[in-house]
Amino acid sequence: MYTKGICSKQFIRGVTAVLTSFIIIPAFVLLHYSCNMDADAGHQASVGGGGSPDAPAADEWWKEEARKMVDNQIAGRGIEDPELLEVMRTTPRHRFVPDRYQRFAYSDQPLPIAHGQTISQPYIVALMTSHLSLTGDEKVLEIGTGSGYQAAILAPLVEEVYTIEIVEGLALSSQKLLEEMEYKNIHVLYGDGYQGWPEHAPFDRIIVTAAPPQIPPRLVEQLKPGGKMILPVGKNIQYLKAVYKDMDGSTREEVITGVRFVPMVHPEDVIPTDQE
Ligand code: SAH
Repeated sequence: MYTKGICSKQFIRGVTAVLTSFIIIPAFVLLHYSCNMDADAGHQASVGGGGSPDAPAADEWWKEEARKMVDNQIAGRGIEDPELLEVMRTTPRHRFVPDRYQRFAYSDQPLPIAHGQTISQPYIVALMTSHLSLTGDEKVLEIGTGSGYQAAILAPLVEEVYTIEIVEGLALSSQKLLEEMEYKNIHVLYGDGYQGWPEHAPFDRIIVTAAPPQIPPRLVEQLKPGGKMILPVGKNIQYLKAVYKDMDGSTREEVITGVRFVPMVHPEDVIPTDQE
């Protein structure tokens, strides 16, 4: 009886232990697993951050996104220049957009940046860059620095990039970012793009990323003979145009496609804001 009693107590303890482990171990595993899930989600959310030893791929998440962006949106729409495609695959576009839009940085759309402006859709950046017909030794003027992304795409493909931005906050923030990212051949000016940058003219190529109602004459003046300018022109209806300056100084233009850009404004139209 005693033995039996002990046996039955041991039996009960044994059953209790087994039952407890059935409850505790799965609960522990579940807890542990969900903590890891949170940790991973945390790394995903802190894009552009320092990363951590237990998630070595966290800083690299964007490379796959950039590869898909190029395959689907750019090469997939007929842009073939291998150097341009490689630059677009290896430039971290998410660093040029505000934190809250970083996870959309590689999607097929323009995105808001500070001061009510936008970073162009990846395909439009690629299309305009490919129409510049770059060979590698050009001095390029960009009007509308914005986030600095277009300038960053141009930088590895040309000799020098001069870029002008009319909103002071954007000129400052993009200059800071481009310096942090160690671009050495991009020069940012806070000023009015309608005036161009006479100290560095003439330019082999000019790219305008805001739409003036007409082709700005001072920009045509600052284009080198044999040079080319790509710009959107128009108010409600806009066309992306190529302006060629021939060796004799005469110009001709071609329409590339219909587009939608923010307007190219004059200094008196710029509303000072504290935004970001
Ligand atoms: N190239 C940019 C896109 C910028 S959107 C990028 O890669 O992110 C157009 C930019 O043109 C805006 O930042 C706007 O402030 C700027 N802009 C508008 N009118 C301008 C002007 N007259 N001179 C210089 N920049 C101008």
